[in-house]
Formats: sequence, structure tokens, C-alpha cells
Amino acid sequence: MNVDLPFFRYHPDPVASGSIHASAESCVCCGRSTGWIYTATFYSAHEVGGRFCPWCIADGSAADRFAGEFTDSYGLDGVSGDVLHEVTRRTPGFHAWQDPHWLVHCYDASAFVGEVGYSELAEHPEALEQLRTDLRMDGCHDESRLESLLTHLGGGMTAMLFRCTVCGDHLAYADAS
Ligand SMILES: [Zn+2]
Ligand SMILES: [Zn+2]
Repeated sequence: MNVDLPFFRYHPDPVASGSIHASAESCVCCGRSTGWIYTATFYSAHEVGGRFCPWCIADGSAADRFAGEFTDSYGLDGVSGDVLHEVTRRTPGFHAWQDPHWLVHCYDASAFVGEVGYSELAEHPEALEQLRTDLRMDGCHDESRLESLLTHLGGGMTAMLFRCTVCGDHLAYADAS
């Protein structure tokens, strides 16, 4: 654990997930070199010209100064305005093929755990089952093909794992190239 980083309720370990890296690069928002730099998504109409330290993400100054968001609000249905604000403007996004989005459970945004393969997903049967349901809804009706897709996660398809901040259940969505 990186105890010196600010705490992100909806993205508790952004170093493990690969969104924040150890780096001597200075932050484009505060100008400080904190030893850590954010490398994932930021959406803004402005030219940013650099990257942010975790502190400028946590206190909202990066999103305010550059009028941008780390994550699209897509999928964040049924959460409060405060939660929406925290996830999109004060929480590190993550690397994904498609635009990253957050999952909701128990009327709260879930915490992003990371990109996982089949073996990690299999430790959370409820997340695996939900992914099966999603894939069927997306039109995958061949069960053997579906299982093959899941067991070969990591190639053209990967799973984004979340954990409910209220009940602790895991949930996931499939990301494809
Ligand atoms: Zn900064
Ligand atoms: Zn829940």
C-alpha cells in the first residue's frame, strides 16, 4: 500500500491498477514534483499539456482548473450528485480500450479494483455470473463460445472489476478492443 497517497474512496489502489505511477514528473496543475503522476484518462476541451499529481485529483483542483472530468458520467445512474461529482472530478480514471465507466451497486458508485483475467474473476462468482448475463444480452447466445471468451480474458477482451462500497459484492464489465 502507498500510505502517502491521498485516499480515493472509488479507486482505492490506483497504483496497483496502473493509473498512478511513481515518477519525478512535475504536476501541470500545482507544479510540484510529488513522486507520483496520473497517467490515465482526462477529458477536457482545454489543452492540458502535462499530467497531474494525485493530490490535485483528490482535492478537485485539476478538474476545476482545466474544466474537465476523469471519467464520463455514463452508467452512474441513481447515485447522488455528490457521488457523481466525486467519481468524475476527484477520482482517478483508468486505462481501458473503451472509455472507462463506473458501475453502480446499492445506489452508490462502486470502487474500481482493476483490470482482471479469468482466474481473478473466478474468485468472485457473482461478478462472473453478471458478466455472463451482460454477454448474453450483448448477443452472445452460444454458451460454449461465451465460456471460451471468459476463460480467455486478456486477449481481445478484458474484465474491469469493481467492489460495492456498501455491501462488498464484486461486479464487473467486459471491455473489448
Ligand atoms: Zn498537483
Ligand atoms: Zn452492493
